[in-house]
Amino acid sequence: MHQTHMIINGEQLPISSHRVETIYNPANQEPVALVSVGTRQDAQTALEAAKKAFPLWSETSSEKRAELLHSAADLVRERAVSIARLLTQEQGKPLKNARAEILSSADILDYYAEEGRRNVGEWLATSRGRSVVLRQPVGVAALITPWNYPVDLLSWKVGPCLAAGCTFVAKPPSRAPVAATEFVRAISDAGLPAGVVNVVHGPGGEVGAELVENPISRKIAFTGETETGRWIMARAANQIKRVSLELGGHSPFIVCGDADIEKAAAACAQRAFSNMGQICISVNRVYAADEVAEEFTDRLVHQTERLRIGNGLEDNVDLGPMFSNEQREKTKEHMKDALDRGAELLFGGREPEGKAFEKGYFFLPTVLDRADHKMKIMREETFGPVAPIMRFETVDEAIKLANDSNYGLAAYIYTSDIATGIQAAERLEAGGVGVNINNVMDYQMPFGGWKESGIGRELGHYGLESFLEIKHIRLGI
Ligand code: NAD
Repeated sequence: MHQTHMIINGEQLPISSHRVETIYNPANQEPVALVSVGTRQDAQTALEAAKKAFPLWSETSSEKRAELLHSAADLVRERAVSIARLLTQEQGKPLKNARAEILSSADILDYYAEEGRRNVGEWLATSRGRSVVLRQPVGVAALITPWNYPVDLLSWKVGPCLAAGCTFVAKPPSRAPVAATEFVRAISDAGLPAGVVNVVHGPGGEVGAELVENPISRKIAFTGETETGRWIMARAANQIKRVSLELGGHSPFIVCGDADIEKAAAACAQRAFSNMGQICISVNRVYAADEVAEEFTDRLVHQTERLRIGNGLEDNVDLGPMFSNEQREKTKEHMKDALDRGAELLFGGREPEGKAFEKGYFFLPTVLDRADHKMKIMREETFGPVAPIMRFETVDEAIKLANDSNYGLAAYIYTSDIATGIQAAERLEAGGVGVNINNVMDYQMPFGGWKESGIGRELGHYGLESFLEIKHIRLGI
């Protein structure tokens, strides 16, 4: 069976030196890998290694760092097939999506290799002297990530962190650490100095907490639940650590009366159900204009019926299992609450039937009609494959409903009137708005949340800046 070792100071720690846990495939409960579980002490050792490596890495030229990052990207691509397979087995997503995730992570490394070369300073001549502004690496970073995109979301942090000249200790999610560790191993194998990249495994409340609380880490880059983010922000406050937090979401999807309904329905199905709805920018609430609501719901159900469910390793599968039984139970609980409060079930709402589905955490993609804001599903993050639809009369009303949330990560609007789209985009309270497109992520552009969806931005040059400190040097000349 595959073995997943921690990487500290350039060494893979022997698995036998630690408590070992088995990772199981959510599609069939078969064992996938053995993982060594670290402790607070391991986190401390890894932080010490990253601290020791920092002077060398931060003083390495941006060209050399770029060269190493490009080599790392090449190695990740070379190993993409095997890493993707492990990702599907530990997380459940279809192999084609797992491959896309690994390849996109390699692209992120390439992107930041070049972005790091553009970390130029500023110069100003005044009557009082001269001023120089430097952007310097913040120091050792703790990179803490969730299970839904364990490699992608780590690459969003690793790329800018290394390009900025920071060293890191990564803590992948406890129940899906396998592919993420392989990703870091490929980077380490590309020839980075020992201690620049480190991975420790273990429980968030122990190993993750040590990374947050230990004075060695100067920056915490975290993606995960809002509750965990709140805790991290509070703990980081003690030492005024830099934090970037990518947290939960509850994204609205508005279908205006003049929208291309076929296109909107296909886009909605894709964004509500892919990765089994376990995406922070998933569609969580659909608002459909009264005059097109019937047609839209029919087409959405039609799109949903066509999705093929199965073990992610099989060919032509669109949706794998959910990641865990807890996720599936939470989805059922939110769905039941909605049905008890008057929602109508149009499709799904149960596990698929058949032997192939018996052992896994499968669930049918689900469409609900007649939803309203009294239902949990319209207020709390379900993180499951459910699209609840609520009807509206005016776009103004739809925007108010969309903004009636503590979250503010992504929002989508479909309309054939570009002025309506732009005006709505300006008013929607979200870090990313898609107008006639169902994805707000483009790695050259900022990504992050408003309100309780987070603080700080990843990707683009914003991602690099979050690993840099600004220094003003005043010259008395
Ligand atoms: P989680 O918060 O439970 O865990 C995320 C990571 O934090 C894990 O590695 C975990 O071990 C660690 N952790 C837990 N407690 C910790 C602590 N006290 N100190 C330090 N680390 C700790 O989240 P999850 O269940 O793995 O992921 C799902 C959540 O992530 C959802 O809420 C989803 O919306 C969010 N998410 C957000 C984005 C985004 O970009 N905004 C992207 C993907 C997922």
